Amino acid sequence: MPATSSTTAPTDRYAKSVLAHAHARTLMPGGVSSPVRAFKAVGRTPVTVVSGRGATVTDVDGHDYIDYVGSYGPLILGHAPEAVTVALAKVVGHGTSFGMPTEAENRLAEKVIAAVPGIELVRFVNSGTEAAMSAIRLARAVSGRDKIIKCVGCYHGHTDSLLVAAGSGATTLGVPSSPGVPASVTGNTVLVPYNDAGAVRAAIAAHPGAIAAVAVEPIAGNMGCIPPEPGYLQALRDLCDETGTLLLFDEVMTGFRVGLGGAQGLYGVTPDLTCLGKIVGGGLPCAAYGASEAVMRQVAPDGPVYQAGTLSGNPLAMAAGGTVLDALAADDSAVYKDLEVVSAGLAAGLEAAAKKGGCPVYVTRVGSMLGVFFVDKDGDRVTDYAGATACHTDRYTAFFGAMLDGGVMLAPSAYETWFVSAAHDDEAIRHTLEVAEGAFKVAAGV
Ligand SMILES: *Cc1c(COP(=O)(O)O)cnc(C)c1O
Repeated sequence: MPATSSTTAPTDRYAKSVLAHAHARTLMPGGVSSPVRAFKAVGRTPVTVVSGRGATVTDVDGHDYIDYVGSYGPLILGHAPEAVTVALAKVVGHGTSFGMPTEAENRLAEKVIAAVPGIELVRFVNSGTEAAMSAIRLARAVSGRDKIIKCVGCYHGHTDSLLVAAGSGATTLGVPSSPGVPASVTGNTVLVPYNDAGAVRAAIAAHPGAIAAVAVEPIAGNMGCIPPEPGYLQALRDLCDETGTLLLFDEVMTGFRVGLGGAQGLYGVTPDLTCLGKIVGGGLPCAAYGASEAVMRQVAPDGPVYQAGTLSGNPLAMAAGGTVLDALAADDSAVYKDLEVVSAGLAAGLEAAAKKGGCPVYVTRVGSMLGVFFVDKDGDRVTDYAGATACHTDRYTAFFGAMLDGGVMLAPSAYETWFVSAAHDDEAIRHTLEVAEGAFKVAAGV
């Protein structure tokens, strides 16, 4: 077993996970269905999970963890919320897929359109990757242009044209970040740093009349959590309007996370195209993209832009998504108000614990999305990918291990967002902060 661990994992404690992972590795690349789950970045053996309930996940060795992964974003109500399990139980006996329209699609579509300012018509797909891929195709079709501007460090799923590594300089032409991605595809992707509207202006000027869309995570959540600087999103809106370029907000993570209207509702900047995922499926595989009616009527069969899916609009996903959106909208969005209070308490507590532990950190937060960056010194800020990757990942590794051993599950990478759910109560936060204080001490010693 590659049980090498920089935080000396008590191996007996994870004996069943170690066995399960060893078996998994004989069956699947890395023993996982998605790479980050292999815990490679933190030098540990992945914990194999058997169940989740509320804010807690339980592993095969019987340990409970306060969970801040939240399936990487979908689980805003926590694990197995009763409303969702009841809704699923109600529909599952009536068939799980038809390849024919259902009224459940109408119901979820109505809720999405009512909530998200930039969406007048919507198309359901199965993953955020698919949503981004389809939205890009649509942007190219309606603009008659091929090139896309993408921010370094923003993740839009693993579709070829958006799977581009960090380049240097403001307008570097993309090079593929994975073998198997043709340079001819990523050659149409122009990279700019996040939070730098001037770089977008320069990139558009460098490719006059050629940029179909500016694609951006309105709150970056895949290089840690990096909020937009004041005015950034509006500046992108203005640049796109001046140049006939479509503005694409990838709200797969932020949609329904930072408010019912997503980041576009929060910041009051409406994009031309919106991608949704994660929460919209209520924990089941589902995503969506949407835009104005004029743009969406270009999608087949109303228009020529082809995009399809055998399991799209799946009735289980529609039921789960609809149930979660109802819960989020209930009582004048009381869930978001509670999330704000609990998340603010967590963020302040983490800052205090880090200070006590002698570990300089920069804590970011928008609603229930949090970032903890292990910066050089107190006062350092992180606003883009260069800043995020300059942080001390070795300290994150130590911190992660100490938190895991203390019963707190963080994402096994320094570049993921923490997600607070409605199930995280004061006791969960108290336990988290107690463990964090020791974990920051361990991290500071690295
Ligand atoms: C998670 C994510 C995706 C990809 O979604 P998948 O369902 O994993 O394909 C795309 N964009 C953003 C912003 C995401 O956070």
